[in-house]
Amino acid sequence: MTPTQAKTGNRGVTIWLTGLSGSGKTTIATALAERLTRQGMAVEILDGDEVRRNLSADLGFSAEDREKHNKRVIYVSKLLMQSGITVIVPLISPYRAVREFARKELGRFVEVYVECPLEECIRRDVKGLYAKALRGEIQKFTGVSDPYEAPDHPEVLVRTDKQSLDECVERVLDAVSEKGYLASGSPHGGVLVDRRVSGDDARALREEASRLPGVALDAFGLNDLYMISSGAFSPLRGFMDRNDYDSVLENMRLSSGLVWSLPVTLPVTAEESKRLGGAARVALRDAGGRPVAVLDLNDIFQVDRKKEARLAFGTEEEAHPGVAALYKRPDARIAGRVSVFEDIAPREFADEWHEPRDTRAIFQKRGWKTVVGFQTRNPVHRAHEYIQKCALEICDGLLLHPLVGETKAGDIPADLRMRSYRAILQGYYPRDRVLLSVLPAYMRYAGPREAIFHALVRKNYGCTHFIVGRDHAGVGSYYGTYDAQHIFQRFAPADLGITPLFFENSFYCRECGNMASSKTCPHDASRHLTLSGTKVREMLEKGELPPAEFSRPEVARVLTDGAKAATR
Ligand SMILES: [Zn+2]
Repeated sequence: MTPTQAKTGNRGVTIWLTGLSGSGKTTIATALAERLTRQGMAVEILDGDEVRRNLSADLGFSAEDREKHNKRVIYVSKLLMQSGITVIVPLISPYRAVREFARKELGRFVEVYVECPLEECIRRDVKGLYAKALRGEIQKFTGVSDPYEAPDHPEVLVRTDKQSLDECVERVLDAVSEKGYLASGSPHGGVLVDRRVSGDDARALREEASRLPGVALDAFGLNDLYMISSGAFSPLRGFMDRNDYDSVLENMRLSSGLVWSLPVTLPVTAEESKRLGGAARVALRDAGGRPVAVLDLNDIFQVDRKKEARLAFGTEEEAHPGVAALYKRPDARIAGRVSVFEDIAPREFADEWHEPRDTRAIFQKRGWKTVVGFQTRNPVHRAHEYIQKCALEICDGLLLHPLVGETKAGDIPADLRMRSYRAILQGYYPRDRVLLSVLPAYMRYAGPREAIFHALVRKNYGCTHFIVGRDHAGVGSYYGTYDAQHIFQRFAPADLGITPLFFENSFYCRECGNMASSKTCPHDASRHLTLSGTKVREMLEKGELPPAEFSRPEVARVLTDGAKAATR
């Protein structure tokens, strides 16, 4: 290891795009670089023409000169990789031997064959070079007057005359991620998904969607669509098909083998499903009937809602809010990749609104190598503060990540909670070590399975650690107090890619004179200050502040004000 490697812990990778002039290497390289940069990776493109001008102005296009030039590029790639940089090389590199040399020399190497028939490259002739070569004005032009040796076994083969740019980029990202070449701290599955399109592409899709058969999204569907499209649900690129759905329910893994614990599916009514017969693409519409996305339809299937309830929630009882929500939806599902062309972000808390790519960038800017995520749908009382600060003793930063999507009746409204979080952060947390940001998802109340789900989602937001407390994402008495912790034992740490931190119930102990848990305090419960949720609610409604050992007065005041406003 060089000193730089030791510092960053990254070893870089070279993505080598070979193919004829005009095959689309540079276009793919640029789109690829944009995607990787967006997820916080350091990327350099060594573009053929530019590198040649700066590095090899002395060289021509003989076989010998080409080899020399390619070897210089390989040398520079190696240097960049040693600094943990992802190097993208769009280079004709017509000779197999040199590419094999690159593979040996660089080690972490992904060869992408950008295939495009010569006739198509000649038709495109972006730089006007083919016309000149065909007139004999350029000698030794690859494909015309010099050979191109196509790779026998490239890691990726893309056909730019047949596949869209998006598809080509996804193929490359999949390969790089499957090889495990993406830096640690990568999103789940390796790549931060982004299924949003803008500009001309969005205009074209909007136009197309107006002519497609449509499906109405319910509030959950629209929310899931947003979470998928922003990358929060990476590696999901759309709604699950039957294979993924069954595999997730039965094994808590996608059919690819990646850990995933809860179904993310798109219900349609029987009538809608009938109308879609044979359609390849479907317009997804919001509550107002406005098309917001297009789905590439690859599966229509029926689910057994009772079975889903039993496996995902551990109960078939309709009293369970997650089960009730499931039973309200029809039982047909449609599946496929989505492309979102309207802004569907439910931006409620603009100051604390950070998408996965944003939180990742913030963590990087602040130099946080380890970040612990804290999921909450409650105010932060002293017990939670204690747990967060225990975690903050061992991590560089804390992402306080309250869920602000739909919760069940009786939970404290999100705006009131947000005020309480701001109050406690202001008074009691080091400003430069905490980020308060909202998670716009809805609660599923799936207990243990949702704990895994919450952890993976936080991994996508850039967390390396995740706090799992008692009865995480639980409701009523459907789950055992520590079931949500035990479920993590079923997965190898590398399969999860985020480290769970387990905490017991904590409290203020009068004898110890501090916050503690059964792990750290030897005294019996009579010495512990504990208040039931019901008791606290009663106090707040009467305008009484709970003891400062239970709740910071700043937080309690926000909550009593809220309770008073609610009863008025
Ligand atoms: Zn004690």
